[in-house]
Amino acid sequence: MKRLVSLLAVLALLCGVCAVPAAAVQTSAALTLSASKTSANAGDVITVSVSVSANSNLGTLDCNVSFDPAYFAANEGTATTAIMQLGDVRYADASVRYVGVASGYITAGGALFTFQMRVVKPGGTLTLNITKAEDGRSQDGEVVTSQVVANSKRSVTVSCAHSQTKTTVTKQPTCTSAGQSVVTCTVCGRQLSTGTIAAKGHTAGGWTVTKAATCKGTGTRVQKCTVCGATVRTETIPAAGHKLSDWKVTKEPTCTEKGSRTGTCTVCGQTVTEEIAALGHDIPAGTVTKEPTCTEAGERTGVCTRCGKSATETVPALGHRFGEWTVLREATADAPGERERVCAVCGAKETEEIPFGVTLPAETTAGNTQAGTLTETTTAPASEEKAPRSNAAVVGIACVAAVLAVTAGAAAVTLHRKKTRASK
Ligand SMILES: [Zn+2]
Ligand SMILES: [Zn+2]
Ligand SMILES: [Zn+2]
Ligand SMILES: [Zn+2]
Ligand SMILES: [Zn+2]
Repeated sequence: MKRLVSLLAVLALLCGVCAVPAAAVQTSAALTLSASKTSANAGDVITVSVSVSANSNLGTLDCNVSFDPAYFAANEGTATTAIMQLGDVRYADASVRYVGVASGYITAGGALFTFQMRVVKPGGTLTLNITKAEDGRSQDGEVVTSQVVANSKRSVTVSCAHSQTKTTVTKQPTCTSAGQSVVTCTVCGRQLSTGTIAAKGHTAGGWTVTKAATCKGTGTRVQKCTVCGATVRTETIPAAGHKLSDWKVTKEPTCTEKGSRTGTCTVCGQTVTEEIAALGHDIPAGTVTKEPTCTEAGERTGVCTRCGKSATETVPALGHRFGEWTVLREATADAPGERERVCAVCGAKETEEIPFGVTLPAETTAGNTQAGTLTETTTAPASEEKAPRSNAAVVGIACVAAVLAVTAGAAAVTLHRKKTRASK
């Protein structure tokens, strides 16, 4: 271990002696290379600056800018000299050589000179190589000394700005799976991003019957995707039912007993038996043994014309025959009223509410009463009640029209109330 450490120490000493030949060097200048933009498109012109650190004492510089002509081209005659006088500029296909001289020592740092390059294609690298650097010559003819230039080889890379792109579908979407696309720079060919294209979903075609329905059994039909053939929907077709014809009465019905008949299905040939309802007795001239009332059915007895037997038949209830409405209590602005009518036959009473919350003008009230009278005084049997009612409705509307003319503001509510009453 001890021996290894001492060996390293000797190596370090030797290297130090090699790197700094004290007799040949006075000063050291640090050079930098920078571009006006490091991201560009084809055709762009970039300005490159060669700068030096302060107090470099630099006086003469011989340097070479090399590049791949596939990426850069020199813009000839564009070099400018900020600090250094460029004495000789030589253009070649893949390089430009700059030889410059400063008057005296350079003490202030900054751009020694600048030059322009045209970007043929982004992605290339410019390299500045210092081949010779000497100390500045003073006015009185001081001895020139070679310089060690720190960072004697500098480079700058101009990348692509990806200004022109194209989108390519790399995977087409299907009905159920998403597709994919990539965005590529058409200048440098780099893949910039990927995207997802949504699945298209099925396209339902027409229905196809996969199992036909029979007389008694259900069928099936499916709807398939016109693109991928997948089944999109399945539906049940209801059973068709028999198509019966050729009926034959197998048992005639009587007054009290059911009959039967058989039919044959024209589709499946199956024979189906159906009931025929009993006919019921026919008693055209019977004797009423129990009179029907408003609410209860009566009875009639006689000899059946069909079977010759003595039979009893039901006579339907007659229903009430109400007279006109009598107002028991007028409706007020905030309380309903009440009215009543009485059956002329049995004296049964019926009451109903009169809607409230509407204050009617005097004329309207009069008209309303008249309409009510016309509507309800009918004594015609139940089956004939319709005709007088529609007459009443006409009168009612006529009354409303009159009211409309008198009080336009209350017209809408007036009409509502009248309709309510007239239809009762
Ligand atoms: Zn690009
Ligand atoms: Zn599909
Ligand atoms: Zn059938
Ligand atoms: Zn009978
Ligand atoms: Zn009655």
